[in-house]
Amino acid sequence: MLVRLRNPDRVEQVPGPRTVADLLDHLDVNPTTVLVIAGGQLVTAGHTLSDTAEVELRPVISGGAGPVRCVECRGPAIIEEPRHRSSWCGEHFVDHVQRQIRKAVDRGNGEGGGGPEQRMFSYGDKILVAVSGGKDSLALWDALVQMGYKADGLYIGLGIGGYSDRSGAICKDFAEARGLKLHLVDMQDEYGYTTPTGSRASNRSACGVCGLSKRYIFNRVAVDNGYDVMLTGHNLDDEAATLMNNVLHWQEEFLVRQKPLLPATGPNQVRKAKPLYRLSEREMAAYCVIRGIEYIVEECPLVDGNTGTAHKDTLSEMERTMPGAKAHFLFGFLDKISPQLSVRDANGDPVELHECTQCGMPTTGDLCAFCRQRNRILPILAQPAQR
Ligand code: SF4
Ligand SMILES: [Zn+2]
Ligand SMILES: [Zn+2]
Repeated sequence: MLVRLRNPDRVEQVPGPRTVADLLDHLDVNPTTVLVIAGGQLVTAGHTLSDTAEVELRPVISGGAGPVRCVECRGPAIIEEPRHRSSWCGEHFVDHVQRQIRKAVDRGNGEGGGGPEQRMFSYGDKILVAVSGGKDSLALWDALVQMGYKADGLYIGLGIGGYSDRSGAICKDFAEARGLKLHLVDMQDEYGYTTPTGSRASNRSACGVCGLSKRYIFNRVAVDNGYDVMLTGHNLDDEAATLMNNVLHWQEEFLVRQKPLLPATGPNQVRKAKPLYRLSEREMAAYCVIRGIEYIVEECPLVDGNTGTAHKDTLSEMERTMPGAKAHFLFGFLDKISPQLSVRDANGDPVELHECTQCGMPTTGDLCAFCRQRNRILPILAQPAQR
């Protein structure tokens, strides 16, 4: 069906048949903010729209004089979100963020609506949240606890000078103030190198060494402590920028794995999920301010180049003239393209994982990438001049 949205005008093609309620949910439009008009007639939430219907969503909240009001309670709004054509007071904005997380959790990888088998996690699951001290991961941890989930945190000390000291302190304070359990792993103590020393010794980029180490440690701590699922705080901007990079370079092996939910497919592996993929950077920062969450605002001093930032800027520029562009790009990929992709080896067979001969964690070869990296770094660091 063709759906015309207003302020700014745009037309979307949405498959039918589906009910009006489903259509608004699909487009993330708050039902209290629009009239739905099909064939010149007003229609209600339960009305089914055919695949060939032409539908107009007409805004009912004018942006004219007077203070902006919360779409839920009509009290003064403190934040507006053009993508949702909505504005909220603090309390109802928190509800909005938690509703988007709920949607992500229930749908798993199914943008069109998942089922219990696609759910990211359930109330009975033991959940581990990887926290960095930044806004996204701490907001995620806070929201999950508020929503009644059993979630612990994991902070990895990467050894990046004052930045690591400050982000570690923020995570510890966050957990202590709320009586939550936080696992702490110091890379130097546990694995014998830090992000900067490992990067210098292996002559690889800091983010390359760091990313591989973090992915390994997340999984390892989750496996060793019996967690059912491991969560990261990647948001809509992160995922849309990554998708743009993967598409620009046609990185098929990364596109295959760009999913909000990655099930465990081998031994010693836990499910991984990104429950914030429906929420923007701005929404997460606002959530932290409203909930009084302290987070580290400074960027990691070792961040490589600025490709990710450049893609985020490009997408944000598109979003400015076309609210919803980022979500449309990412959700369209997840809905239409991602289900057709699967992990295959060079012969086209499904990839099989087995245990690394050195550490037992999952790998496609004999030694996992983390052990190979560490085996290269440690002998070099053992030479006195390199420490
Ligand atoms: S920016 Fe790079 S080096 Fe810094 S924490 Fe992130 S991955 Fe690690
Ligand atoms: Zn309100
Ligand atoms: Zn290994």
